[in-house]
Amino acid sequence: MPHRRSLVGGGLCMLVFVACWPLLAWLAGQLIPAIGAGDLPRVVQVIALALTVFMVQKLAQFGQDTLLAEPALLVSQDLRRQLFARLQRLDFAALEKLSAGDLTYRLTEDADRVGEVLYKTIQDTTPSALQLVVVFGYMCWLDWPLSLATLVLAPVVAVLVSVFGARVMRAAERSQQQVSELAGLLGEAITGLPLVRAFAAEPWLQQRFETEIELHRKARYRTQRLLALQYPVVGFLEAAGILAVLLIGAARIQAGGLNAQGFSSYVTALLMLIDPISHLTTNFNEFQQGQASLRRLRQIEQEAIEQPDRPDAQPLLQVKGALELRGVSFGYDPAKPVLRALDLLVQPGEVVALVGPSGAGKSTLFSLLLRFNTAQQGQVLLDGQDLAGLRAHELRRAVALVPQQSSVFSGTVAEAIAFGRPATDAQIREAAQLANAAGFIEALPQGYASRIEERGANFSGGQLQRLAIARAVLGNPAVLLLDEATSALDAESEAAVQEGLDRAMAGRTVLVIAHRLATVQTAQRIVVLEAGRIVEQGSHAALMASGGRYRELCERQLIELGPGA
Ligand code: ADP
Repeated sequence: MPHRRSLVGGGLCMLVFVACWPLLAWLAGQLIPAIGAGDLPRVVQVIALALTVFMVQKLAQFGQDTLLAEPALLVSQDLRRQLFARLQRLDFAALEKLSAGDLTYRLTEDADRVGEVLYKTIQDTTPSALQLVVVFGYMCWLDWPLSLATLVLAPVVAVLVSVFGARVMRAAERSQQQVSELAGLLGEAITGLPLVRAFAAEPWLQQRFETEIELHRKARYRTQRLLALQYPVVGFLEAAGILAVLLIGAARIQAGGLNAQGFSSYVTALLMLIDPISHLTTNFNEFQQGQASLRRLRQIEQEAIEQPDRPDAQPLLQVKGALELRGVSFGYDPAKPVLRALDLLVQPGEVVALVGPSGAGKSTLFSLLLRFNTAQQGQVLLDGQDLAGLRAHELRRAVALVPQQSSVFSGTVAEAIAFGRPATDAQIREAAQLANAAGFIEALPQGYASRIEERGANFSGGQLQRLAIARAVLGNPAVLLLDEATSALDAESEAAVQEGLDRAMAGRTVLVIAHRLATVQTAQRIVVLEAGRIVEQGSHAALMASGGRYRELCERQLIELGPGA
């Protein structure tokens, strides 16, 4: 709608373009008998006229193509924008189900195809269809019995086209799926390359890849074969039809229903039908393929998305950072609870270490605190407000996560710390200072404007962790959720990260999934989680003395007893 003007302008150009066709057919009717009669002055006159009409028509075509391109491209851009917005809100379970490669393919190739089809529909299919109607109308006006005969063949062609079209569409969908699986496997292979090499699994993966490309080739070939069959069939029918029309035309002239000029115009007009018909059949095939792509895009729309805020969601008032879990039960599959009737109260400013064997539910607990998931029973409260009744955005500004793998987005250092939030340079610098990152950032040749490559490849693990800490503390969150990295850094980086953490934690409520003794010793309280229940809590010393699960965990070295232990 905002581009109504170019649509109307393009539409007018299209009408001029189409109207020129019967005019040209009429001129051909004047020209051919004049050529036959050797009437040169008349021929020159008609040719001059025809040239003018051609020029007007091509100008109109240019106007149509340029004016209509913009709205068509805008619609396809809109489609991409909406899909990406959808992607950002996708439920994590749905995101895990669709592989990254598959999603990338859908959002690039499929979205491109839909955009192309859309453009073609507006800029090629519509004028072709109009041309068909107008030129055929002119033919009926010239001689309707002959046109009736022409029409007999059309349904035969149409039925054949649609039968083939349906088959082509099914084959196209299959082959598209295959390409997308190929992309999925490729994505997996690229990220998993070190693993593959470590297990000397290259031949296995190569084999798998080859099977996949073989399937892909076969599916593509099926599509090609159907297309290859379709063109000759349609083409032959067209030729037979035209020959039949010539025959009937001769009979009509003999019967006196048509003169030589009219018949010349008629045949020219008939030839003018071939082009739009072939455009329409090609476009029809692409349209079907486009539909297959659109369906694959629509599937994304059908995936579950993150739960939206309640309409009556409450604003988050001054956050002090008191966390409370009241009888919280949660399971990804409700039949298999991961957290069972959990009760936990964390005071503002308290540092609580969560420890427990892998699979105990520690990360799941974090996901509830960020409202990535919602408790099936019980309540999670922040300063007495139930998280379910808050706005997710506000909650996530108050509760910041330092993930285990310190992933940062590519861009400048300053952008990585701000991460889309409005922040002044001073605020960014302050956050970096707190995270003990300012030193190394300022030592970079371009300081805060230095570029981070994809996946932070040009920074060390310890530096990335400190950037992640700076990113977390930038908005001055009341609560910090810290997922300690399991892979050890060298002692020097470790100390630098620890220093950053200590400063970042000051004055905040901190929940840390702890793997190191240094961390649990600084915690005011240690909570031992096992199979979704709290089995013990207390200080390190008290828990060691009581000789329970915690002590066992330490002895089994699930808590890393660093050099100081
Ligand atoms: P921890 O962080 O203590 O290692 P998690 O919270 O990651 O434990 O996992 C607890 C349990 O929940 C495990 O049995 C795990 O398999 C399961 N789980 C974790 N994430 C998901 C998920 N996205 N979908 C289904 N099950 C999950």
